[in-house]
Amino acid sequence: MLAPVRRGILGGTFDPPHLAHLVAAETAFRQLGLEIVTLIPAGNPWQKAGRAVSDPRHRIAMTELSILGIDYLEVDDREVRRRGASYTIDTVESFASADEIVLIVGADAAAGIDTWHRPDDLRARATFAVMPRDGVATRDVVAAVGQAQVTWLRTPELAISSTELRHRVARGDSIRFLVADAVWRYVDDQRLYTGSSSTLDAAAP
Ligand code: ATP
Ligand code: MG
Repeated sequence: MLAPVRRGILGGTFDPPHLAHLVAAETAFRQLGLEIVTLIPAGNPWQKAGRAVSDPRHRIAMTELSILGIDYLEVDDREVRRRGASYTIDTVESFASADEIVLIVGADAAAGIDTWHRPDDLRARATFAVMPRDGVATRDVVAAVGQAQVTWLRTPELAISSTELRHRVARGDSIRFLVADAVWRYVDDQRLYTGSSSTLDAAAP
């Protein structure tokens, strides 16, 4: 039997992963005394149907590059390996039942918990560490998650989104310092988000 782990889970599309994701992971780790934070790129983000999401291999590679050398952060590819839609409850239930699970989410995601698959089971199994996000009211998060289940992460509001970063690249604007340095290089090397369809270079993992 493995010893139970106090685990943070940060799920996302990570297209691309950016500094707000890292700040959320870091702050949850410190503030909640977690042992590990697991970043889990979504395989088939069902709530993002209708927009092209980059190949999971790119998103996994960039997420790994983001956390290189940080031993309390890890990347887990179980949602990418799973077929069908990525449901957070399935992911949470795939960890040892003795593990304590803290879901690290932005306020926008937290406010929408009721639209997730089996929200009651999710609220029963996990607590939520919520990072403030511009435009999302505290009361909407508390109403969705439940007062007892929410810990607010003490972070500044960071107005960074992957969507805006993709637009910046498409416009020719720099994303340096908004993403980990290695991610900035990767996006450039692989010519992601430039508007031309991004094929995987042979060098990609
Ligand atoms: P997209 O624009 O493609 O939706 P995103 O920047 O929202 O990308 P996701 O991969 O969708 O990034 O987000 C993963 C998690 O990180 C979600 O819980 C989301 O709310 C949270 N998150 C992302 N960016 C921020 C931010 N700037 N502040 C707070 N939370 C954030
Ligand atoms: Mg998002």
